[in-house]
Amino acid sequence: MNSHKPLITIAIDGYSSSGKSSMARQLAKNIGYRYIDSGAMYRAVALYAMRHGMILPDMSVDTNAIIEALPNIHIDFAVNGSSQTTLLNGEDVESDIRTMAVSECVSPVAAIPAVRHALVAMQQRMGVEKGIVMDGRDIGTTVFPDAEMKVFVTASPQTRAQRRVAELIEKGVAASFEEVLSNVINRDHIDETRSESPLRRADDAHLLDNSTMSIESQNQWLLDVYNNTIGHL
Ligand code: C5P
Repeated sequence: MNSHKPLITIAIDGYSSSGKSSMARQLAKNIGYRYIDSGAMYRAVALYAMRHGMILPDMSVDTNAIIEALPNIHIDFAVNGSSQTTLLNGEDVESDIRTMAVSECVSPVAAIPAVRHALVAMQQRMGVEKGIVMDGRDIGTTVFPDAEMKVFVTASPQTRAQRRVAELIEKGVAASFEEVLSNVINRDHIDETRSESPLRRADDAHLLDNSTMSIESQNQWLLDVYNNTIGHL
């Protein structure tokens, strides 16, 4: 599909539940690139911490214990037909990392600088050959600051919470709108204010506010940005 097109690196960042993962996955499929959900990696570390008693009852994190455990945390992705599965030390944890319990503790875990250093290094290794679409919070700013194509996706917190509730319901997980909205707002706050690679739009990122856009028009918008980027190389 990309036989005569140069392979590039595509960084898609944005707020939680902005729909960036679905867009990124669809773009990767359309252009025959690898897709990496960096949020899944932070979620896998948070799940490990949860399972090993490193998340305290008040939701604070045992930072030292998590740092010490990092060498024992191995994250991989397995392709399963058209879907991708996250593996934590070889175990398929794809559904476990999407629970509200993990959503509640992932941002404090992701704010630990040593966790970020380890995962950023892993993400950079995954991207050395280009031909990759990676989505997250700091992909265009920290992981691949030289990415040829950068996108920053946003939507109102209410829209994002509504989408997340619909997604959870589809997966059979009960969640109230208020609970999800407060989680979305809280994660935005932690992600934007942490000292290490906070969530922010890279100066050279294309901005997309998809609050009122259909999935099809978002996908088309992204494909147009890709074609335009490739056309200017
Ligand atoms: O993308 P998703 O919402 O699944 O990410 C879960 C959490 O992981 C985010 O709220 C954020 O705290 C953290 N994250 C991050 N940097 C990334 C991707 C995710 O800090 N590149």
